[in-house]
Amino acid sequence: MKIIAIGRNYAAHIAELKNEQASEPVVFLKPDTAVLRNNEPFFYPDFSKDIHYEVEVLVKICKEGKFIDKKFAHKYYNEIGLGIDFTARDIQQICKDKGLPWEKAKAFNGSAPISDFVDKSQFEDVQNIHFHLDIDGQTRQTGNTSLMLHPIDEIIAYVSTFFTLKKGDIIFTGTPEGVGSIAIGNILTGYLENQKMFAFEIK
Ligand code: MG
Repeated sequence: MKIIAIGRNYAAHIAELKNEQASEPVVFLKPDTAVLRNNEPFFYPDFSKDIHYEVEVLVKICKEGKFIDKKFAHKYYNEIGLGIDFTARDIQQICKDKGLPWEKAKAFNGSAPISDFVDKSQFEDVQNIHFHLDIDGQTRQTGNTSLMLHPIDEIIAYVSTFFTLKKGDIIFTGTPEGVGSIAIGNILTGYLENQKMFAFEIK
């Protein structure tokens, strides 16, 4: 499986990092070694002093497709989840300054904790799902999928022009505002609507 992640998909998050709003989605990949499941702890890596949390709604691809038309994109996913796009913000800043790729900052081991997935039929409208992240019981990020600059069907159509999407692939759909640093000992708890999706510790 592969993870395809979308950057800069919520206007308020673009503003907080003083990034430019792109007309096309910003796309990067994470390898399968990035995945943490079943509330496994995240071990703070030695190579960064500023790991940020980014809570994101996940889409799991349910059948293979390439050049998927936007109007058929909804047939390519049945399940929704929640995850964290851990980002070594200090390393990412160096990469950005030098115009280098982001993989060292975004694709390291454990950089993609993911929840179990739930059927999308559980939601009245996948483009109107409220989600939030608590750290040590305090809400740090809240978002709603209605605020995506590029909605899910558009993301699927766009990324499938570059990559064949395969069953089991996961799309990280971007983070809303409120990103910040984690510290060892933090407990990160994520919710889709009011359903707890994950809770894990930073070690
Ligand atoms: Mg992100």
